[in-house]
Amino acid sequence: ERVVNPDADAIERSNEAALRPANLDEFVGQRVVREQLGLVLSAATGRGSTPDHVLLSGPPGLGKTTLAMIIAAELGATLRITSGPAIQHAGDLAAVLSSLDEGDVLFLDEIHRLARPAEEMLYLAMEDFRVDVVVGKGAGATSIPLSLPPFTVVGATTRAGLLPAPLRDRFGFTGHLDFYEDHELKAIVVRSAGRLGVSIEHDAAHEIASRSRGTPRIANRLLRRVRDWAQVHGTGRADLDAAREALAVYEVDERGLDRLDRAVLKALCLRFGGGPVGLSTLAVTVGEETETVETVAEPFLVREGLMSRTPRGRIATADAWLHLGLEPPVDAVG
Ligand code: ADP
Repeated sequence: ERVVNPDADAIERSNEAALRPANLDEFVGQRVVREQLGLVLSAATGRGSTPDHVLLSGPPGLGKTTLAMIIAAELGATLRITSGPAIQHAGDLAAVLSSLDEGDVLFLDEIHRLARPAEEMLYLAMEDFRVDVVVGKGAGATSIPLSLPPFTVVGATTRAGLLPAPLRDRFGFTGHLDFYEDHELKAIVVRSAGRLGVSIEHDAAHEIASRSRGTPRIANRLLRRVRDWAQVHGTGRADLDAAREALAVYEVDERGLDRLDRAVLKALCLRFGGGPVGLSTLAVTVGEETETVETVAEPFLVREGLMSRTPRGRIATADAWLHLGLEPPVDAVG
């Protein structure tokens, strides 16, 4: 398992619970979304009504679940959590919807993965607070309309572009979360260290932040690895030495690249002269599935300006050569 993977499994998610900011003021960064969302929530509270449905989009690990929890907390509402993949049939969604109480916040993670019939049921529920429950099967099936108390859907998606327009349109407010700046990640690391009871030095927090790929989840995970190192080999205090040594153990370099990222760049530069080369060839060369390289390594390398996508294949930028300590060829881009 890669320490820089932006996704989390169930165990990690439960570890994360203690680190989640409890309200909008504690939520670091994302100033625009925070401000807009704050207005939506205060206005609804002032009117004594439920706020518009909220869609949160952005890459994994940037705080969508956290914001959903904050929305419920700020409204003093009960949060119900489910996800697109957990809802196999429209009936599953009908069961969730019909159990909602007035004012509840329903968090639907990975909403782009809802099955089509469930999606259609959701439009109706979001728009009219109504759900048609089908009773019986075949020719004898009847549909019974059931009205629902007002509630708020908070949908989260890593792929806003995949949401059908009718569903997207049901959200009165959409917030897009972007990768964090290093100083914001540093603030998150310092805050999390406090929560974990780890004493951390500023330069260590900075070191962790700058290797966290703009992602709070990765920052928190690297912090835990540094804490372990400091406890086992160091003084117990997370200082710069502990940060550097721990991250060397996990092969996360000073720009946040791990072994796979570097293997991809090395293959690109050393085996293919900097490219262009097709993604599947590149994946075979590093002994990985094409999908892993495409979804895990490539987006970060492209974002970092180390790799470019061209119609003829992937190419290494001059910066990639330099990062590997190599002399870039004269025709290298960027
Ligand atoms: P997502 O749902 O987008 O995958 P999460 O909300 O689960 O991301 O956040 C992942 C981890 O990062 C959690 O531990 C959370 O506390 C932390 N985190 C995310 N955003 C922030 C933030 N803005 N401030 C502080 N911690 C954050």
